Amino acid sequence: MDMSSIVLFGPPGAGKGTQAARIMEATGLPQVSTGDMLRAAVKANTATGIEAKGYMDAGNLVPDEVIINLIKDRILEDDAVNGVMFDGFPRTIPQAEALSQITEVTHVIAIEVPDEKIVGRICGRYSCAGCGMVYHDTFNPVSSSGCDCGNWQEKRRADDNAETVQSRLDTYHQQTSPLADWYLEKGIFHPIDGDRAIDEITGDILVALE
Ligand code: AMP
Repeated sequence: MDMSSIVLFGPPGAGKGTQAARIMEATGLPQVSTGDMLRAAVKANTATGIEAKGYMDAGNLVPDEVIINLIKDRILEDDAVNGVMFDGFPRTIPQAEALSQITEVTHVIAIEVPDEKIVGRICGRYSCAGCGMVYHDTFNPVSSSGCDCGNWQEKRRADDNAETVQSRLDTYHQQTSPLADWYLEKGIFHPIDGDRAIDEITGDILVALE
């Protein structure tokens, strides 16, 4: 197992996707987002997408087996040879156990944001379909000329609504947050206060990765 990887951990709306783009630039590690992979599968109407859609719309987790198979395939791609940055994976202990057989995880970067801030952060967020950059109506709006990538196209997620957010948060607390202790015991867990300016958070993450 030559490759080593990092995990971005945290509740929905913590800013994992925003920080992933910046860490990718700094480290060269490709972002592997199971949420993005599932949304692509839903859009393409693949068997995985059809199975996953109901869970995603309800704010529940897609079964471990489906996710682990997605990751096993993704990790075989050329850009993953030196490791990757996982975003939104693992989300359960069985997923973390499976991951430990696939790659060494050197850092778990946990972006912490209090529950009461999450709903406002998720409702109002959107991204650029051209480059994936994440924006927010209030906190981080796109400029009037559109995204810097030059290919501006607004995209909003179907599950970024007030009803689904609460069940995504419940799911996070019940099934995903126990992973924090699991990784803490391994000595690779780095909590980062995510309730600050985007640049400050990135700075702390890069220090933790040094
Ligand atoms: P995300 O984009 O990470 O917020 O994920 C969106 C939705 O995809 C989640 O609410 C889950 O339904 C599903 N999902 C993404 N990643 C996972 C995972 N690692 N395990 C189970 N379900 C996932």
